[in-house]
Amino acid sequence: VTFRDELAIYDPHAYEGYDGNVIVTCGGTIVRSSPEGDLFWSYRQLKFILTSPGDELHFLGHFRGEQVFAAEITQDTLALIESETSGLRDFLGKIPDTLFQLLGRAVQITDWYLGHRFCGYCGSATQQVPKERAMGCSACGKSFYPRLSPCVMALVTRGHQCLLARHGQHRTHGFYTVLAGFIEPGENVESAIRREVREEVGLEVANPTYIASQPWPFPGQLMLGFFADYDGGEIVVDGLEIDEACWFNYDNLPQVPGEFTLSGQLIRTFVERCAAARRD
Ligand SMILES: [Zn+2]
Repeated sequence: VTFRDELAIYDPHAYEGYDGNVIVTCGGTIVRSSPEGDLFWSYRQLKFILTSPGDELHFLGHFRGEQVFAAEITQDTLALIESETSGLRDFLGKIPDTLFQLLGRAVQITDWYLGHRFCGYCGSATQQVPKERAMGCSACGKSFYPRLSPCVMALVTRGHQCLLARHGQHRTHGFYTVLAGFIEPGENVESAIRREVREEVGLEVANPTYIASQPWPFPGQLMLGFFADYDGGEIVVDGLEIDEACWFNYDNLPQVPGEFTLSGQLIRTFVERCAAARRD
């Protein structure tokens, strides 16, 4: 997926004859023509459908060399067409990463649009700002951009061991994952890592080292993945977010998330590094 800085604003005349790809969303779900239907609708198909106020088209970028748009349709419009809706999570790990990112982008952009049709400061109706990804209020001059929430994810390591935790929400699945948390306003990444690890498992860490990142559109997180060295303390779980946390040897891990998650990628990277170090 390549995202360019050109932004198109929905204008029926601008797309006369255009037959590009459109991802259709409705209230956070992906709309397809049938359960196995294509994820992309053709614009030609849609231009007769996008007639209600609130049915809007948003430029997403280029995918396989073609322009892709997201169209948010209203429930009223959805009722008029033969369609199937699915949540974004239904596609997780089942379609190529780039396509998943594109779907995530579509849902986040249309959700931003839905949430900012009126100004939160003065209540006036907003309009899309030409050439910008922004909704603007002409009454008071405020602009509203899509909001991302940065999260840190830290794999705490101690030699050939790493710290993995079972979260309350994963209790039924039994997965062990990497510690993670939102960055607070006014906080930098390094202090967010130290605070999260201290709060969740009572340990001190040092030398946070950046490994990789991942957009996580549930609803708008950007996951920033780090390794961090254990630097003291005994494990004391908070009992709220974390049920259990343990050290695991790299060659004897519990059930961990798939590699379509950043948590899974961090764990795999750690295992590969330990295995390589042992070979040397
Ligand atoms: Zn306003």
